[in-house]
Amino acid sequence: MREAIQSLIQKQKQYFYSGETKGLSFRKAQLTKLKEAIKKREQDIMDALKKDLNKGQQEVFFTEIGFLYSELKDMMKNVDYWAEPRKVKTPISHMGGKSYIYKEPYGVTLIISPWNYPFQLCLGPLIGAIGAGNTAILKPSELTPNTSTVIRDLIVATFPEEYVAVVEGDVEVSQALLNEKFDYIFFTGSTSVGKKVMEAAAKHLTPVTLELGGKSPAIVMEDADLKLAAKRIVWGKFINAGQTCVAPDYVLVHESRRRKFLKLLVHYTKKWFDEDARRRKPYPRIINERHVDRLAGLLKNTDKVFYGGAYDRDQRFVEPTIMMDVSMNDAVMAEEIFGPILPVLFYKYDYEIIETVRKRPNPLALYLFTEDKESERMVLSNLSFGGGCINDTIMHLATPYLPFGGVGESGMGAYHGKNSFDTFTHEKSIFKQTTAFDLPVRYGQSQTSMSAL
Ligand code: NAD
Repeated sequence: MREAIQSLIQKQKQYFYSGETKGLSFRKAQLTKLKEAIKKREQDIMDALKKDLNKGQQEVFFTEIGFLYSELKDMMKNVDYWAEPRKVKTPISHMGGKSYIYKEPYGVTLIISPWNYPFQLCLGPLIGAIGAGNTAILKPSELTPNTSTVIRDLIVATFPEEYVAVVEGDVEVSQALLNEKFDYIFFTGSTSVGKKVMEAAAKHLTPVTLELGGKSPAIVMEDADLKLAAKRIVWGKFINAGQTCVAPDYVLVHESRRRKFLKLLVHYTKKWFDEDARRRKPYPRIINERHVDRLAGLLKNTDKVFYGGAYDRDQRFVEPTIMMDVSMNDAVMAEEIFGPILPVLFYKYDYEIIETVRKRPNPLALYLFTEDKESERMVLSNLSFGGGCINDTIMHLATPYLPFGGVGESGMGAYHGKNSFDTFTHEKSIFKQTTAFDLPVRYGQSQTSMSAL
């Protein structure tokens, strides 16, 4: 395996050195090819995701395919402009010269992706890598084998391997790739594996983007529109059966709104996700038995389940579940839940919001429900998190105009839209000096007359 990987990297390096990947019309042509290849295989992608995760077609289109079309469109429209060298100011001390920032691709990049949105999270970063003029090796998740096969077939049919290649496999394959020297690594996955990726990258001083996870809170303040808050939290939480990196992990609600909010949460959960609803519309499966066991463990020995709580290991099914009166010491508050269990905690004073969120590492997302500007200011200026929404959930990631990424333990770096281009681009600073004259001051000479030179 080691030799095969080394030879692939070598091929990509040679191809990168040929300069072909850097041409702007080449990049746009490849993005068009990628778009057409996805279009042609929409049904295969949907079938694969149905097999891997029991995702419904509408959900696949919204969360995996449509998103990529919008990223592709944005990249194709703007790449000429983003790639242009930028002239910047030159200080008086550099008199006579001009300053430029050149946009340079890194070279051979590695993209490692997870299983929860296995298509989008593998090909989304690729749009950035291609747009910026790099070559790429993709390592999709082994836990969604049908999607991994579709990705492999699509890439093989669309690009030569010296330009874009797929290396399928498990942790061992991922580690073998990480042992080699890349020019850039883009990793999406868990915080614990992110640390290993960074450790491996450090050996070669390879720059990384780490898109990780965490416990993302939803905060429902006293003045919030409760109906909309409940509706949008239920949707954001239970889509993909809670296996979404930016799903609201837990809710903090003002205690005065307790009864009404819980009633509304249950109302929307029943409406969209009860047995009847699940018969009408596919409800995603938990990725494997190990994760079902992990989630079931959070429901055992607790009297805090308020709605739901059923699971079936063989079917890899966990019912949308709401837990009430949860405290920070409960097992469900220890780690990212990454499943359809929604703990609800109550607070009385605003400072408790800040304290509760600060007790845990910086979350990937935060959702605030309020009509009050001062509450907005209080939360935004006191809490550090990757990004989020006011009066909504998840939607901040579905736009090419906002950078998407974490901070602290939820990751480093960001992508989507222009940020995808910037992530895969090195900014090369160039100062171009004049040869028409040479001021002597910097050499410690006192003469100012050019004739003295
Ligand atoms: P994971 O970290 O277990 O795996 C991600 C990828 O890393 C897979 O391709 C896997 O093969 C590889 N991998 C696993 N162990 C490895 C190791 N020891 N060394 C090298 N490579 C290894 O993550 P997952 O379970 O697939 O995904 C779930 C996690 O990903 C959650 O924590 C979630 O929050 C996070 N996530 C983050 C984002 C984001 O955009 N920030 C998006 C989706 C998922």
